[in-house]
Amino acid sequence: QVRVRFAPSPTGFLHLGGLRTALYNYLFAKKYGGSFILRMEDTDQSRLVPGAADAIEDMLEWAGIPPDESPRRGGPCGPYLQSQRLDGYAEAARALVETGHAYLCFCSTQRLELLKKGALRSGETPRYDNRCRHLHPDQRAERLSRGEPHVVRFRLDPGVEPFQDLVFGRNRHEVSEVEGDPVLMKGDGFPTYHLANVVDDHRMGVTHVLRGAEWLISTSKHLLMYRALGWQPPTFGHLPLLLNRDGSKLSKRQGDIFIQSFAHKGALPEALLDMVTNCGSGFEWGNRMGRKLDELVAEFNESKITTHSALLDLDKLPEFNRIHLLHRIDDVERGRHLVEELREHIRQTFGPQVQEQDVLKEDYIQRVLHLRKGHISSLRELVTPTYAYLWIRPSVSRQQLEELTSEAQTITALVLQLMEADRGKALTTEGLSSELKAVAKKVKSTKYSSVMKLLRLALSGQQQGPSVAEMMVSLGNGETCQRLQRVLQ
Ligand code: GLU
Repeated sequence: QVRVRFAPSPTGFLHLGGLRTALYNYLFAKKYGGSFILRMEDTDQSRLVPGAADAIEDMLEWAGIPPDESPRRGGPCGPYLQSQRLDGYAEAARALVETGHAYLCFCSTQRLELLKKGALRSGETPRYDNRCRHLHPDQRAERLSRGEPHVVRFRLDPGVEPFQDLVFGRNRHEVSEVEGDPVLMKGDGFPTYHLANVVDDHRMGVTHVLRGAEWLISTSKHLLMYRALGWQPPTFGHLPLLLNRDGSKLSKRQGDIFIQSFAHKGALPEALLDMVTNCGSGFEWGNRMGRKLDELVAEFNESKITTHSALLDLDKLPEFNRIHLLHRIDDVERGRHLVEELREHIRQTFGPQVQEQDVLKEDYIQRVLHLRKGHISSLRELVTPTYAYLWIRPSVSRQQLEELTSEAQTITALVLQLMEADRGKALTTEGLSSELKAVAKKVKSTKYSSVMKLLRLALSGQQQGPSVAEMMVSLGNGETCQRLQRVLQ
């Protein structure tokens, strides 16, 4: 059975890059009927951000891609926090030391610093010189008995471990030529990323590792560790990087790329998922906007993931949001949630100004949503000043209207007659707009556009906004008449 995992370090909050990695893992799991695991790699105690682990899990839930096994949900291979699995890493490190694949290193931080400085001075890449590999067993035993601080290092013997990456194809990387022996266990008894990652992928029965391309180089090292431990490695697939449109690193330019802040600003999760997949590859029929999660699952094909970096255009987010908001409005269940959400925004924005409680009713709000879908990219737009007329009566003076045309009275009287005749009928934008044209024709002295200006002002207090017919449909017959009658008074 397929088992994949998303393994973030809770050293920060979930951002778009992380969401994308999690999503590809989710899609892979769903495609093969497997399990999607969330594992917290919290072994670097100095960099932990309080609350980040919880927030990451919250955001996966919010995004609609919840893990099957996780710190919060538990599961057959728990605990899912590495800081609670220390015994397993110590055991693996011990086994590697016993079989001669790892050794204790007593080099002091000062010595390592000096090595580093020396290398940098001569223009080389710093690397550990593997000195403690050659410690005599007696010396080692003596230093250990003196309680000298030490770490455990993995012996990188020459040799390559070629592998077939799902995305990048055949890989051969001679690690020992470029790196010194890496640390597996730190002085504080915590494992490094490399050890904990390998041990857990094995113990959690992970079959496929789909992670960012920045880990591609580490994989060769991990494979040497799998061999030394006598374990069968999983299959690896490295996902191309997610970059800004101009090719710069995502976090650098955009400032805020955290999922929480998108959620806070009203982005829809499905719009974010659609956006981060749209700029990349891995889908059966190329890319198109507006794919929902079940369509992403159906169209996902790992063999279509290319090595090209995905270039993200955040300016397109409102467009993705607009399309997905439209889908939500059309969905009965989700549409109902939108009504509640919008009602909350109305209360918060206009509070006691909302005198007509009818505007808070489900059918009124639903009507507004259906009329405006496809035009708005966020519910919050509906509480901006342009749309305030939907929720509160505008204050417009008779004088203001008469400045537009001396026929203000005649026009409103005609429209009121029209509304009287339409009472009880379902209003439609098309029907009303032709009726309004007919009204305008009757008033010879005033141009059609001025008639519309007058009506728009009387109904909304605004000079711009949706068409007058649409305004009348959303306000409904009763409210439209109330607002027009004021002009006649
Ligand atoms: N903890 C690593 C990270 O935060 C996980 C890398 C991996 O998936 O192996 O990126």
